[in-house]
Amino acid sequence: MSTSTSPQHTGPHPSDQSAVTVLGLGPMGRALAGAFLDAGLRTTVWNRTPGRDAELTARGAVGAGSPEEAAAASGLVVVCVVNQDAADGILRREAVAGALRGRTVVNLTADTPQRTRATADWAAAHGIRYLDGAIMTPNTTIGTPDAVFLHSGPEELYREHRPVLAALGGTHTHLGEDIGRAAAYDIALLDVFWTAMAGYAHALAVARAEGITGRELAPFAQGIAAILPPIFAQTAEEADSGGHSGKDNPITSAASSMAHIVEASEGHGIDAGVMRAAEGWARRVIGLGHGTDGFIRITELLGRR
Ligand code: NDP
Repeated sequence: MSTSTSPQHTGPHPSDQSAVTVLGLGPMGRALAGAFLDAGLRTTVWNRTPGRDAELTARGAVGAGSPEEAAAASGLVVVCVVNQDAADGILRREAVAGALRGRTVVNLTADTPQRTRATADWAAAHGIRYLDGAIMTPNTTIGTPDAVFLHSGPEELYREHRPVLAALGGTHTHLGEDIGRAAAYDIALLDVFWTAMAGYAHALAVARAEGITGRELAPFAQGIAAILPPIFAQTAEEADSGGHSGKDNPITSAASSMAHIVEASEGHGIDAGVMRAAEGWARRVIGLGHGTDGFIRITELLGRR
């Protein structure tokens, strides 16, 4: 859908693979732009608050004076800001939307699948080619083999821009044509992360109340984290098949363990709301007559198929 005759196209042709624009220069946007520069791409950058591009321009990036100027500079425009509202606030300005016509936006901003789909609909209505992506690793991994990127949207478009995206390092996985799919994975994976982090913060508080320092607890906490990967794999099979064998660890046993944590925490005056909620789910499963099933039976309770 090239519109190279459009007067808005003042920069390289939209299919030019040697140029890329990054809108948003927070820690992640700066890391993305830095990796593009390292790969030798002509990199144009813009950020709402001026001055955040100093280090990048010193390394050869072109600092654009406006988002429309930045959008017009490259066929591929990467946006990475705090949330979709902020991304929409940039992309949906009339001048920016005009400059983006016929170009490709890769939105690496984290937000919900619903918001992603709404922006994709808007992009389609404005002749803007649109891919969504999620970054599953910290900014320090960008440009290294440890970075993990998930992508969704039209596969042909993804293939076209895959060589430029490869400059960001790590692994890139295209999850399918549903534009919201990368955001859906992101939400589910961040659910794992933040629930685990909430548990760890709570555990550190309970341990402290018992005179145990974080440094003392940490090696054993890492041991707990290390037993999770095979449990994730096995229970995912159970969740998909609906066969929740609780042979070695029935949910009644899990509920009892969780009750101990609630009692010990509250005995120290520490809020146990998260564990109370989890224990409550387990008790409901037991109440429905599934007490001999495994813990992950909770998935059936929460997410009706
Ligand atoms: P932030 O999430 O703090 O985002 C900062 C960027 O958003 C800045 O460029 C900021 O501009 C911009 N911004 C905020 N509000 C607006 C607005 N209303 N209009 C325009 N721009 C706005 O930092 P990150 O760079 O770290 O994260 C960017 C995205 O990457 C987020 O969606 C985050 O979840 C995701 N991500 C980040 C990771 C990380 O390690 N940092 C890891 C994985 C994903 P200004 O400077 O003007 O405030």
